[in-house]
Amino acid sequence: MDYIYDLSFDELQDVLKPLNAPKFRAEQIYTALHQGVAVPEITNIPKDLRAWLTTNFNCNLPEIVTVQTSRDGTKKYLLAYRQTAESEPDLIECVLLNQNYGNTLCVSTQVGCRMGCRFCASGKNGLVRNLTAGEILAEVLLINHLNSTPTTRGVTNIVLMGSGEPLDNYDNVMKFLRLVTSPNGVNISARNISLSTSGLVPQMRKFADENTQVNLCISLHAPNDELRQQIMPVAKRYTIRELVDAAKYYFEKTHRRVIFEYSLMMKDGKPFNCAVGQARELANLVRGFPAHINLINLNPLHFDANAVLTPPSREIAMAFMDAVIKSGVSCTMRKNKGDDIDGACGQLRLRHMEQK
Ligand code: SAH
Ligand code: SF4
Repeated sequence: MDYIYDLSFDELQDVLKPLNAPKFRAEQIYTALHQGVAVPEITNIPKDLRAWLTTNFNCNLPEIVTVQTSRDGTKKYLLAYRQTAESEPDLIECVLLNQNYGNTLCVSTQVGCRMGCRFCASGKNGLVRNLTAGEILAEVLLINHLNSTPTTRGVTNIVLMGSGEPLDNYDNVMKFLRLVTSPNGVNISARNISLSTSGLVPQMRKFADENTQVNLCISLHAPNDELRQQIMPVAKRYTIRELVDAAKYYFEKTHRRVIFEYSLMMKDGKPFNCAVGQARELANLVRGFPAHINLINLNPLHFDANAVLTPPSREIAMAFMDAVIKSGVSCTMRKNKGDDIDGACGQLRLRHMEQK
């Protein structure tokens, strides 16, 4: 059965046509859906139209399995999509962060992930399936609805940084971006959305050609190919040089500053990617175009029993950041928000699955 949240406004108009309903019904339904109102509660449309929708479409928003609230106000939701009442749920997570400029929701784009990065819980058990555009949208609609007040929006910014590699689910993610920015929908500005990729070069170039104003973030995590290949299998397909060239292309096309994400890691107790010399190596890679480096300390890996990869001390992290800045590249350190509640990508889902 088709998922109602997958429909664009035009598609919704088309499916309603045979019913000969007044034209404004499509607008009423689309607006209500995008406000996160469940179909049975759209009371400004006739009861039999509501019944027609629920019989002909899957109209379910995701189920909330758990919500955890962190000391800093971060809320982490474990959500489930279920095809039938009996089937095993597909688990995904999203995180709502309160920031001084608004509320950022981190959404998932796939159930699991097949990129296999060593430090990431989402990739640990591979890819289960892609989420549809409507399923990604429904994460936003549900959480926005739950956290909105009469005067404020629950979600003002979106980052595609939950589980999944967004550019590995390209068409659905592009449709999601069109739906979530549509003016008669939840209408989040493209400039308030960031898409993070582990670096699928051809798709990055294609995305640049879409000419959106979405911010692009690239998970770099190493200053050279040899090290990157040890922690990210995708590095065997594309070199850092190709990655940086694609990033430059994205900037040329969109004029949006590209962000490189870099998680600081120790391996067997020694700096793996966070020695001062590596900071200079990193700066040399991205100097000369408007890029920014976002550092974050590795979130400890509860699934890595031997803890080969661990976060560095504050001193090591600060010395690294200073060295990048001194080398002439813009760089900040991101706080590990919500790390008392399995803050890192995929950790909540993985813990839940392991406890079963
Ligand atoms: N698949 C995309 C987006 C989701 S991950 C990507 O990889 O870019 C969001 C960010 O969290 C990525 O930069 C990812 O590399 C990083 N990440 C994953 N696990 C982490 C961990 N344990 N500690 C710190 N950062 C982590
Ligand atoms: Fe997938 Fe991103 Fe995790 Fe890598 S870091 S396994 S690409 S979700």
